[in-house]
Order: sequence, then structure tokens, then C-alpha cells
Amino acid sequence: MTDAAVRVTQSAVEQFSKRFLQSVGCTFEENDEHIVISVPEGTDIGLSHGDHRLTRGESQNTGEQIKSVHPESEFFQQLLQDASERYPVGAMSIQHNSAVEVPAWIESSLFELQEARFTPYYNRTAVVFLFKISVETVSEYQQEFLRAVAVDKRSTDPIPQLAETFLEATSITTDTLSDHDVQSQLTEKDVQSLLSTAQTQLLDAMDDQIEEIHQEASRAADSEVEEYRRMQQQRIEELQEESAELSSRIDDLSEKINTGEGAERVQALKKRQELKTEHDELAETLTELQERRDRGFPDRQREIRERHSLTVTTTPLTLTVVEYERGEADFELTDQQRQTTRSLRVGYGSGVGVIDDAHCSVCESQLTGANPISHIEPEFQCQQCAGR
Ligand SMILES: [Zn+2]
Repeated sequence: MTDAAVRVTQSAVEQFSKRFLQSVGCTFEENDEHIVISVPEGTDIGLSHGDHRLTRGESQNTGEQIKSVHPESEFFQQLLQDASERYPVGAMSIQHNSAVEVPAWIESSLFELQEARFTPYYNRTAVVFLFKISVETVSEYQQEFLRAVAVDKRSTDPIPQLAETFLEATSITTDTLSDHDVQSQLTEKDVQSLLSTAQTQLLDAMDDQIEEIHQEASRAADSEVEEYRRMQQQRIEELQEESAELSSRIDDLSEKINTGEGAERVQALKKRQELKTEHDELAETLTELQERRDRGFPDRQREIRERHSLTVTTTPLTLTVVEYERGEADFELTDQQRQTTRSLRVGYGSGVGVIDDAHCSVCESQLTGANPISHIEPEFQCQQCAGR
């Protein structure tokens, strides 16, 4: 299964930016390199009025009049913030008016597609959430991701293809949607429950990525712990050397005391006492340090690990109610060699494509682009088992 959370691509970022800027009254012209937007006077979007150039992707050369648009750019983050404050709720309707989307397991097959026909049976409602996920550690590490998650209102199943359609959409109604419109389709309770479903799907889909960051942070913590251990070991060795040096000086003094006389002997006794005290203090420090080392410096380890532990926050930025159509699609396939034609019927949705996974009628393997249909007679058979 594909991930429920759909990555926000560069083209989706541009589409989103244009959609939003247009909705607040800006106009734009674009070429391959950049988009020039004109901000009319009195438009409150954090851009001064006049022309601004938006460069695609990352650019070093940004400033007041030149902004870069890409998923992580400051300008785009600002737009998202604006959009979520202005239009937390939008609506979009996907009517079937373009060509039927042909699944990969037909497209990669050798059969000729005679006809693809979609018959809509009913309207369904889905909600697309645009999320910002930030993964950070107390210390220095922070990463942000943007993901869209689409959830069917009735089944609460994720529909990643619909999230993609949403991201690439050129028009979403944002300003004409009244509270009443939204309430007639979704209650506050619906929204809460769909949001929590989407959040769960989002975190499931992000699991590997978060785990990767977690391991990276653990490695950073490990090496910090190791570095601390190494320095403390060095300190222990230094103290041991100092201690040995003091012992040998004390031995020398004892020698002097045994052989010396008078003032010199008194002086040596006094000095030996001083050194003994110093030696005792040093021995105490050393023992304490050695004990901490033998226990693995638990306090310091805890402090380091806490500093590298992850905090994952998901923030829903926008919510869009998407109306789409569900029904069935018929694909008529011709086997030129055998001069036969057969029709295949599958569940289909506008903006979604083929809804359910299709399977081989013989071995039940899932049909995919890599394992397409290879026989249509007497049954629909996959490439894997037909070759056996
Ligand atoms: Zn098969």
C-alpha cells in the first residue's frame, strides 16, 4: 500500500502559493525560472505592494523583492501560516470530466486499451488535511515536513491519490465557503474524529522517517557520551599520575625524616603532613571518579540522552472538504494476437483513480506495474504465474 501521507512537492508548493496569492487579489505571470506576482495596494499578506519575483527552488539571492518558493523556504512557510489563518477551511469538488486514469497494471500490459469508461454512482465526501510535522530535539536538531492526508468521511480510509489531486489542484474555493456550508457537510465532532484519524495515519506513514531521525539523534548522543567517557578516563589517568608523584615525594620526605635532624627534620615532617593531606584529597576525587566511570556516568548519560530525545509535533494547517464521485470503471482490452476482447470492471473514483487493489484470478497476486495482466483469456492472469 502507498503511504497515507503525501509529500508536498515543489510543484504542489507553487500551485498552493499561486492559489493563495490569487485568492487575496494578486495577479501573476510566470516563465520557466520564476513567477512575477503583482501585489495590489492594501493587500495584507506580508508583502509590500508592487511586483515581487518568486524563484523556484532554493535561492541564495533573496531579499525584499525576490523570494524563493520551495517546501522549506521561509516565504512559503509564511504563506502557509497566512493561509491557515485566513482560510482554515476550503472546499473542492472533483467532477469527472477528464480521461479515465488507467492503472499501471493495464498500462504496462501488452493489450490494447479499446475503451476506458467511468460510471459515477454517488458522491462521497473526503477531508484533506495539510500538516506541518516538526521533529526536534532540545539541543540543536530540527526538521520540518509538510504532508497532505486525505481521509474518506464515511469509511475513514486514507486516499493518498486524492491528497495528490488536492495538492496539484489549480482551484479550491476558499473565500465563498460559509460556516453554514461546512456545517452542513461536517459537524465539529466529524472534524475532530477525522483529524485524529488523519494524524494517526500521518504518524504511521512518517514512522520510518522519524525512526531515522531518532537513530541519528541517538548516534549523536552516543558519540557525546563516548567523548565524555574518554575525557573522564584521561582525567583519571592524570590524577593517577599526580597521585604517584605525590607518593614518591612523600617517600623521599620519609627518608629525610629518618636520617635528618633538627630544624630540617621538623620542616620535612610539616611538609610531609601537607602532602599527605593533598594525597588523601586527590585519592578521594579519584575513587569517586572511578566509581562514576564504573557505573557508566549515569547522571551525565541521562542529561545527554534527554538533550537528544525527539519531540514530534503535528500541526494541521488547512482543512479542505473534497467532494468526489465514486462508481465503477470499465476497461476494454484487446489481445491482438488471439483476436479477443474482454472488459474488466473495477471500483473507481474521480480524483482517486482505481480504488481497490486488483488481483490475478489464478494466483491472487496483486497486479502492479511490475506484474501486469498478461492473459485475458480464459481468465485475467498476471505475468508472474502465466510464465510458470
Ligand atoms: Zn497470477
